Amino acid sequence: MLRVAIDGPSGTGKSTIAKATAVRFGLEYIDTGAMYRALGLKARRTGVDEFNEDAVREMLGITSIDFNGGATMLDGEDVSGLIRTNEISMAASNISKLAIVRAKVDEVSRHLAATKDVVMEGRDIGTTVIPDAEVKIFMTASPEIRAERRYKQLLEAGKEADYDQILKEVQERDYQDSHREVSPLRQADDAVFLDTSNLNIEEVVDAVADIIMDKTGRRA
Ligand code: C5P
Repeated sequence: MLRVAIDGPSGTGKSTIAKATAVRFGLEYIDTGAMYRALGLKARRTGVDEFNEDAVREMLGITSIDFNGGATMLDGEDVSGLIRTNEISMAASNISKLAIVRAKVDEVSRHLAATKDVVMEGRDIGTTVIPDAEVKIFMTASPEIRAERRYKQLLEAGKEADYDQILKEVQERDYQDSHREVSPLRQADDAVFLDTSNLNIEEVVDAVADIIMDKTGRRA
């Protein structure tokens, strides 16, 4: 069994790296943030207050989240594109504070990892979701570098972007994710720390492959 847990704040390149690692090692890629985003999207769409536990509990009872060939499915609808906005980033961060929401995402995540070799990406995979993962990596980069990467991504996608605003949001979300009561973002004691500030994508993918090799003897 090979379960690779990659945690860290947003904008460190976790998704890109996790996807590339999945391809290299033949693992299933699971993006837990996408599930929080899908739930945030549903709340915003249906006017559910994402801070109201009772309202969110009711929403969870009538919501299904799943992945289909890499696409994030919310109640059977492919919402992969719709969840990648600044508004939904914040909605996801808000709704992810609730223990009932975390329990739901954890359940789906563990179910997905139960029968397959996976690389799972999030904030609390190594600490809470799969604490016995064979490989744990805590990936980070400076807030300025992360904001710059996000800024460039948006421009490349032909979207409008304001660097200062993005940096502010990165810092806000970092604070919120690291200070919430339930499963805050933190490095697991046995996770390998990887600072990607001065590395390009290929270098990070190589570093991750080295860590997997080191911990498990498995080669790409
Ligand atoms: O990784 P991504 O930026 O897509 O995650 C969106 C939000 O979902 C994060 O800001 C965080 O609040 C929440 N999240 C979480 N735990 C995870 C993954 C994401 O709380 N394992």
